[in-house]
Amino acid sequence: IKKIGILTSGGDAPGMNAAIRGVVRTALTEGLEVFGVYDGYLGLCEDKITKLERSSVSDIITRGGTFLGSARFPEFKDKAVRQKAIENLKKHQIDALVVIGGDGSYMGAMRLTEEGFPCIGLPGTIDNDIRGTDYTIGYFTALSTAVEAIDRLRDTCSSHHRISVIEIMGRDCGDLTLNAAVAGGCEFMIIPEMSYTKEDLIEEIKLGFAKGKKHAIVTVTEHMCDVNQLAADIEAAVHHETRATVLGHVQRGGSPVPYDRILGSRMGAYAVELLKLGHAGRCVGVQNGKLVHHDIIDAINNMKRPFDVDLYNTAKRLF
Ligand code: ATP
Repeated sequence: IKKIGILTSGGDAPGMNAAIRGVVRTALTEGLEVFGVYDGYLGLCEDKITKLERSSVSDIITRGGTFLGSARFPEFKDKAVRQKAIENLKKHQIDALVVIGGDGSYMGAMRLTEEGFPCIGLPGTIDNDIRGTDYTIGYFTALSTAVEAIDRLRDTCSSHHRISVIEIMGRDCGDLTLNAAVAGGCEFMIIPEMSYTKEDLIEEIKLGFAKGKKHAIVTVTEHMCDVNQLAADIEAAVHHETRATVLGHVQRGGSPVPYDRILGSRMGAYAVELLKLGHAGRCVGVQNGKLVHHDIIDAINNMKRPFDVDLYNTAKRLF
């Protein structure tokens, strides 16, 4: 291969820029040309494709987001739309494409590969919900942001003897909530992997106050419940002022923490190595500290994401 393309797709994540830089600089070192595709699969279809130089990725390692831009583009599920994308790639004589994104983006990469255009997927999402990797690029930055927010809410909860209900991102994955709860010393949590009832939660909170607690923090993964309603129900039952805070997109921004920069750099370099070795239709992961690659289809369809039950049980004992 001589020319590779790169795009970022789906929700942005801190560290995507480090991954782009990793791909671009490694490819140039290896004598390959690199083309940046702006705004994900949408830009691919609209031919927003530009040659990248070494200096195109200067000064981006510290920045959150993705300088290539990202997009939600559901039309990419349509084969005719993907054909247009492949035509554009061929027009620029691009031989392979690196896709950085979440599982939706992986589906697009898998389809392109099936239809004859080789792709490699890199896990870029704050949710840590991608199969075939222990960690995703962006997760540790989001975790740090969530913990900082919890710390701030703790200060004011403590002063006012208040209860705080905090909604944390993660889609259907509780990793961000569980780890933020443990790091933030939160008493109670609601995550998709463990069943709960509102009644039990309220009983636990009452018990906490009976034991002498002055405040309480409940962390909840998004989509699990309406946090404003939950706060109202807790306040009515426990008779302590209760406020809900949705951390929202704040968790997606900010300068990436060192681990995400390192992970992005390593995975970007690895993607180029894999392409040079002739691999396609693979997704990159880090497992037990080592870089690995799996078949994208197998990863999406058959692999399970392990849930850290031990950490959950530890968290419960700390409450
Ligand atoms: P995150 O989970 O962090 O938001 P994601 O990559 O899962 O990231 P999605 O919006 O699900 O985000 O997917 C990104 C894009 O990938 C979609 O907008 C669409 O262009 C493409 N895509 C998603 N699913 C498919 C599919 N089944 N076939 C082809 N392309 C797809």
